[in-house]
Amino acid sequence: MPTCAVLPKGELVRFKSTLLARKNILTGNEVVHLNEDEVFSRNDLSSRKTEMFKEEILNDRKRSEIRQIDAALDRIKAKTYGLCRKCNNPINKERLEAVPTTDLCLPCCQKEKPFR
Ligand SMILES: [Zn+2]
Repeated sequence: MPTCAVLPKGELVRFKSTLLARKNILTGNEVVHLNEDEVFSRNDLSSRKTEMFKEEILNDRKRSEIRQIDAALDRIKAKTYGLCRKCNNPINKERLEAVPTTDLCLPCCQKEKPFR
């Protein structure tokens, strides 16, 4: 178990507010942009079906992102935020800035989800 947080308190507070702000957007009625090309490879669905489908995907994405945000907030509380859950090393700060919900350092993430 890590004995102290890797990030200074100010940084933690900043990450926490980023996470909370993101969660507010997700739980509110804010429209999340979804790249259609990314999701639809077929265009043979009726537009109504497409709308419903899109809604479902959005909700799934929102739910999983909210879960990740909650987990990150829990780690902040537990003072393990910013530490890799696999190797316990501090996660690179640029990586945290880019993906504030991550709990894996880059080497571990690459091991877990290899690019090829
Ligand atoms: Zn790691």
